[in-house]
Amino acid sequence: MRSITKFDLQYAHRFYKFKGEAQYLHGHTGILTIEVEDSINEGVNMVFPCNEIQKTAWDYLKNFDHALILREDDPLLPAILKVYEETNLKNGTPQNEMKGYAFKTELATAYPESRLVVTKETLTVEGMIKIVYDLLKDKLNIAKITFSSGVNAASQEYEITETVERCPLCGIALNKEGHCKKCGYKK
Ligand SMILES: [Zn+2]
Ligand SMILES: [Zn+2]
Repeated sequence: MRSITKFDLQYAHRFYKFKGEAQYLHGHTGILTIEVEDSINEGVNMVFPCNEIQKTAWDYLKNFDHALILREDDPLLPAILKVYEETNLKNGTPQNEMKGYAFKTELATAYPESRLVVTKETLTVEGMIKIVYDLLKDKLNIAKITFSSGVNAASQEYEITETVERCPLCGIALNKEGHCKKCGYKK
């Protein structure tokens, strides 16, 4: 069975060099859905607590919320950084509190202080799914990711090969010593 969690991401982007309106900077509320698959954990009668999926994923996904997402070769990038620098936004402000982890993967680099994500490829809905899977695949048993943004939507399914051992009291994944970091349960 699957546990399904949704996230709202408000971001600005553009399709650099794309022949259409989307080459202009514009914004979206994107809806990202992550489906985590495993056996039903008998003790708690669920696959995985959705609030735990939220917490795990949000540490990374925060980077895409109230953020600007640009491709690495987009000339807007140095222009924006120059303005952020001149107006003291580049290195963060005390009001910039909802910061994600500063990640760097093959596909994207996050700069939480500037609320900026720089991508290798154009950030289409398909591009977002690739980035998110890459960030979270080792942390959650992801069976499917769906992303919709404006009139565009895409989804991708993934094969689950392993089961994750979870706490019989609260349902979260046990660490490799068999301990639950949430409730203190020991196997
Ligand atoms: Zn768009
Ligand atoms: Zn527990």
